Amino acid sequence: MGDVLILAEVKESGLEKSTFELITLAKQLAKELEGKALSIVLGRDPTEAGQELRRFALDSVYKVQDPALEGFVPEVWLNTLEQVIKELRPQVFLMTHSPVARDILPRLGLRLNSTVTMDCVEVKVDPSDKRLLRKKPIYGGNAMAVLKCKGTPEIVSLRKNSYPMAQADGQVSELKELTLKITKDLVTQVLETKKRDIVELDKAEVIISGGRGLAEKEEFSQLEQLAAVLEKKGIKAMVGCSRPIVDKGWMSSDRQVGLTGTMVAPNVYIAIGISGAIQHLVGMVRSKKIIAINTDAGCNMFKVADYGLTEDYKEILPLLIKKLEETL
Ligand SMILES: Cc1cc2nc3c(=O)[nH]c(=O)nc-3n(C[C@H](O)[C@H](O)[C@H](O)COP(=O)(O)OP(=O)(O)OC[C@H]3O[C@@H](n4cnc5c(N)ncnc54)[C@H](O)[C@@H]3O)c2cc1C
Repeated sequence: MGDVLILAEVKESGLEKSTFELITLAKQLAKELEGKALSIVLGRDPTEAGQELRRFALDSVYKVQDPALEGFVPEVWLNTLEQVIKELRPQVFLMTHSPVARDILPRLGLRLNSTVTMDCVEVKVDPSDKRLLRKKPIYGGNAMAVLKCKGTPEIVSLRKNSYPMAQADGQVSELKELTLKITKDLVTQVLETKKRDIVELDKAEVIISGGRGLAEKEEFSQLEQLAAVLEKKGIKAMVGCSRPIVDKGWMSSDRQVGLTGTMVAPNVYIAIGISGAIQHLVGMVRSKKIIAINTDAGCNMFKVADYGLTEDYKEILPLLIKKLEETL
């Protein structure tokens, strides 16, 4: 019997969307390992997030609360998670591949004398020995590796948008508090937290992405215009791009879709002048509908697109904007 524990990450407006993906995976793995799906949430007072987690029929939801857990102070979180894992003894510990995971998981693996696999896109159980098979992109996304590692707990970070989000199913789990010894004796002291506005592409319903096929920076204004028309109709639309556009300095890196950018799965992804290199495709191929506009009928993007237009975007975009303005 192997239990599966997830760390639920919280932001101001509630649980991070990716936590719901972790729940889906945790339940799948726990079933195969004949164990329990457990969740832990940390914070100054994470009761609200804990209550939200209870709605997902996990076997148990735990919280650790302490003023020192406010915000993210790596040493405090690391010490706390180490104690949580020693107390709950899960076979598997899962986190979203977030900045928090990138900071603490390697150190946690070392402390627990186990092996960590970061940035996985799929995790399965090998029925022969009930150990995890951890799938992740390697060689810049040109190949996939499936790894089986030694050590317990089996620690994995999961790339966002790799699994469907769990839905609350009416069953309510118990919320329990773990009382631990929280480190107050810090090496690092957080003096000030500065927030910067970032574009959260993965929250968009429709993403309109432009690539190197767009000849000038100014051409992106048409993409903005298209997004604005959709926004006016109440659809959350954002403009994204491929990596060369960020490299040229035309867009900020938080708008880049792909392996080294954001992984997205919107309802509609419109790829304009993007060829469909593997590093771009891995970031958007899970979109529900893909529309490609490209002058090259043989480009890769058409292989994953639901709808394709072999046309010059300069001809198509004004017509599309006009049509949407009239009809939506
Ligand atoms: C380690 C590594 C990580 C990477 N990570 C990423 C990543 O996260 N995201 C990413 O995007 N890339 C990434 N890349 C780069 C990637 O390999 C490609 O180089 C890049 O995605 C290509 O961008 P593009 O499709 O915009 O440009 P191109 O491949 O140059 O394609 C431009 C397309 O525009 C079309 N076109 C030209 N004119 C028009 C027109 N008038 N109308 C319509 N279509 C037109 C062309 O037919 C062509 O298909 C990475 C590369 C490496 C090595």
